[in-house]
Amino acid sequence: MERIGVVGGGLMGSGIAEVCARAGCDVLVVESDAPAAEAARARIEKSVRRAAERGKILHPDDVLAQVRVGTDLDELADRELVIEAIVENEDAKVDLFAKLDKIVAPDAILASNTSSIPIMKLAVVTQRPQQILGIHFFNPVPVLKLVELVPSLMTSEETTTRSRAFVEQQLGKQAILCQDRAGFVVNALLIPFILSAIRMMESGFATPEDIDHGLVLGAAHPQGPLALADLIGLDTVKAVAESLYEEFKEPLYAPPPLLLRMVSAGLLGRKTGRGFYTYD
Ligand code: NAD
Repeated sequence: MERIGVVGGGLMGSGIAEVCARAGCDVLVVESDAPAAEAARARIEKSVRRAAERGKILHPDDVLAQVRVGTDLDELADRELVIEAIVENEDAKVDLFAKLDKIVAPDAILASNTSSIPIMKLAVVTQRPQQILGIHFFNPVPVLKLVELVPSLMTSEETTTRSRAFVEQQLGKQAILCQDRAGFVVNALLIPFILSAIRMMESGFATPEDIDHGLVLGAAHPQGPLALADLIGLDTVKAVAESLYEEFKEPLYAPPPLLLRMVSAGLLGRKTGRGFYTYD
């Protein structure tokens, strides 16, 4: 696939646009308004230049020339694949998929980078449910290799096969196949693990440092669960836990009171300077 659309050029969308451009695709990013488009352009440019300084990209100008950023969804008409990466809001995504379905060529694939919204909710508002799936990248997109491919019950084999070929052969990522269930594979395992560490700390069982050292030194994790929670952002951990709890109603997914209080207090981890640890 050569002509790729990305809707939403925030943290994830700009990273997705970058990896597609680095793979030689013609990329069109559509943002909600001109200032957001300008910010998306600047984000992509900064990341590409930084990668070039580190020797990861040889011809940054050529990569940047592959990306256009605009504000008009109609310009996506000729795209073979459109990846949606707008805010994590079901109404906004449903509205966008209904619009994209009318604009983009009927044989194109429409994908969502959603972390928690059922793919089926997006598929049923289109006339092409067999060509809708989740393509879930990980942050930072240019660095992390994994992509979760999430076909819904109505996604065709062909759509999944083409999408896998795109992310693996063109983008050089590694895909895993997941069911259309909250959390897919990674978050469904990672979030209860983090929540267990928070409960352990909350009960006075061990300090954050000892919990994290335990997992780093005893299980060869690159960082402990509480340091990882601070990196992800405690508001995001809470939101993903709530969507898992909403789907499965299992106590292991319920956000513990300490997490709720920390989020209320604005102690969100690295991004606010304080979470389970403090940061300069
Ligand atoms: P973000 O807030 O950084 O970016 C969202 C962007 O979408 C903003 O730039 C906003 O202007 C734009 N936007 C909003 N509505 C739009 C519309 N109708 N049309 C065009 N643009 C619109 O958010 P993000 O962290 O990049 O997350 C985007 C998606 O990726 C979400 O679905 C999120 O769940 C998912 N995701 C996030 C992460 C992560 O670590 N942040 C990881 C995997 C998946």
